[in-house]
Amino acid sequence: MSAITLICPNSIGPYEIRKTIGKGSFGTVKLAYRPDIHKYFAMKVISKERINMMRDKTRFEQEIRIQQTLRHPHIVQLYDLLQDLNNYYIVMEFCGNGELLSLIVAQKKLNEYQAKIYFQQILDALSFIHSRNIAHRDLKPENILIDEYGQIKISDFGFAKFLHSDGMASTSCGSPCYISPEVISGKQYNPMKSDMWSCGVIFYAMVTGKLPWTQTNKRQLFKQIRSADFSIPMDLSPECRDYISSLINLDVNERLSAEEARNHSYLEGTPIVCMNR
Ligand code: ATP
Ligand code: MG
Repeated sequence: MSAITLICPNSIGPYEIRKTIGKGSFGTVKLAYRPDIHKYFAMKVISKERINMMRDKTRFEQEIRIQQTLRHPHIVQLYDLLQDLNNYYIVMEFCGNGELLSLIVAQKKLNEYQAKIYFQQILDALSFIHSRNIAHRDLKPENILIDEYGQIKISDFGFAKFLHSDGMASTSCGSPCYISPEVISGKQYNPMKSDMWSCGVIFYAMVTGKLPWTQTNKRQLFKQIRSADFSIPMDLSPECRDYISSLINLDVNERLSAEEARNHSYLEGTPIVCMNR
């Protein structure tokens, strides 16, 4: 993919555009400030040149507008969509504690108790979205953010589905480690169940601090994923090991849905607490 230089102004509409807080495969995320209401936002800046490379550009705005109507405590809220000659500016809720990935890296791994609290919140958001027939399709710990109160916020909803309209596109730009075997095979697949595979890999990463896959060569990695060739450390509780196996499961009918995973006995009694970090 050819590099696109981002031309970004110092302000747009009521927002002052500040420092860069993240970079993804589709855009640069900036910190934005609205002085009139004294509030910070995250603003994803996507160059129009990038959008123009997509086949069905008119759907872009529609998709964002639909996502703007989705409201859930564990989904990054979209507030506004602006544009100028060069870019689209997607204004969203700012998550001050950054990516779940950074938390896992900083703590080396999460204990089961802590992982369950976060995972329950991820599943709450997914059950909500899946019940509306929307899949995420790009779930990974970089897309799962934590707000200033320690609450999980999933980002890139619906949006990811649109941008990665052909499943394989996401593998060439992002990490392929969370991709399901069905997506690799390129056949028709259920995108919700595919999200649940990714969730399994994310939960594995939370409680072990590692990925289930050991291969680094893409071909070998895909082979490993397609045969679900992984092991679960014995120091995890048997219930946790079972839970992981019912998510990273080759059989999509046996693989838990978001609702089933949310109501599973393993998560029973997990508090819905706000963890201040
Ligand atoms: P990809 O498709 O590879 O996931 P993307 O272009 O869709 O990338 P995002 O994942 O939305 O980009 O954002 C890139 C990074 O910016 C995130 O991983 C995160 O670190 C940061 N970021 C995104 N949204 C927010 C937010 N609302 N609050 C705080 N940081 C954010
Ligand atoms: Mg992302």
